[in-house]
Amino acid sequence: MPSATMNAQEVRAVWTSERGSMAKETAENRWAKIIQGSIDDIGETAAAADVDCQKRAESIAIQIALKDIKKGIEQNEPLTPLRDDGKVDIQEWNKKLAAIGECSWINCPWLFGECYMYRSIQRILNSSKHWQNYDVFKRQKDASFVKSRAAVEELASRYMQIVTDTRLAQNESKEVAKKLLFIEMTEIALWGNATDLSLLANLTLEDLQNLQGREAIQKSQRNIVDNDTDDVWAYLQRTAGQASRQIDIVLDNASFEFFTDVLYAAYLLEAGISTSVRLHTKEFPWFVSDVIPSDVESLFKHLDSSECFPGREYLDQLIPRLRKFFQSGAITTTSDPFWTMPFSFHEMPSKAPALFKELQNSYLVIFKGDLNYRKLTRDGLWPHTTTYEKALGPLGKESGVKILALRTNKSDVCVGVPTQSKVDALNEEAPSGAWIRNGKYAVVSFNEGQ
Ligand SMILES: [Mg+2]
Repeated sequence: MPSATMNAQEVRAVWTSERGSMAKETAENRWAKIIQGSIDDIGETAAAADVDCQKRAESIAIQIALKDIKKGIEQNEPLTPLRDDGKVDIQEWNKKLAAIGECSWINCPWLFGECYMYRSIQRILNSSKHWQNYDVFKRQKDASFVKSRAAVEELASRYMQIVTDTRLAQNESKEVAKKLLFIEMTEIALWGNATDLSLLANLTLEDLQNLQGREAIQKSQRNIVDNDTDDVWAYLQRTAGQASRQIDIVLDNASFEFFTDVLYAAYLLEAGISTSVRLHTKEFPWFVSDVIPSDVESLFKHLDSSECFPGREYLDQLIPRLRKFFQSGAITTTSDPFWTMPFSFHEMPSKAPALFKELQNSYLVIFKGDLNYRKLTRDGLWPHTTTYEKALGPLGKESGVKILALRTNKSDVCVGVPTQSKVDALNEEAPSGAWIRNGKYAVVSFNEGQ
């Protein structure tokens, strides 16, 4: 049993060889499927009538290279240094791999192996002439967004109501109402994450709509196993007088979840909680569904389409409001190469010092989703009662970074559960680690970095 006093250097990161882990399950059952999905996607794109013949010819070589990765996963081959693709980060990947030592797809640190897989796909595309900026996951992202029609329309209506209520609460200084609205918007951003596409294989459309619906959000409050919402609210209240209050949101998934994140950003501005919001995207296609820069325009293109979203009553009021925030610069987007590196965030101060400094200067940094949480906690097999502050390592105590994690639990790590008796109760309620993995439980974890 790991001890509750271990520190960040001692905690063991989960490996894909770990029996009974989500790591092993993912590496064995999902990775090869994800690669096959990208092979099929490239085939479909290349087959379109308007694709030029050079691009089509190149697609064959790309598919062969992708099949090679798939075979490597299926046959548990060793991970080998990435060949140069002209990008500066390749050396860092290979240094990290060398530091890990001999390892293979089903016997490697999960965090590294999974990042390495997405970088390997991108390496192949980077090395091509016609496919460098191609998003192999765009089809899946688009299809999922259209499927969340009911939830999008419902949230648009609810958001317009919340904006009105927020104004009223502001004018009449109704403190309790203001807090409840904050809780509701935070929970929408939290459970929007339940639609992680890389897990979609196991969810029916009905499941999705249940997870997304407002009713489910209300029910799910009881499933937040570490809930620091009161602490965040207290921090925001205490510091509301600061002149500059930039909130950074390190995004997770595109489509429905990104819609909820943009709503959340807009709400934080409308409620006067923040003075500006910066959204951090990935630089290239990552973990299937993560937001990349082109997904921002794609979001608006979908929202504008009455074919995708025919219930226009509230959307037509909402979209201009959202666009205005982007046009005025109140909401901006940015990417940093660090987000698509294999490092945990414990390595941010040494590997990305400029980014670390920026986050120290931020009013609040919100990390969305499971992968960000794994990186925050070093993907470590901590005892579940370990404090969030401790698991954050160098980003925790005295880091100067105010970190809020909004994450539905979908991997092997979860810290911050208040007591062992609560852990025991969760193990009884959702046995075999289901509460850490099945996406029906979550954390809203906050640390002030003091
Ligand atoms: Mg993701």
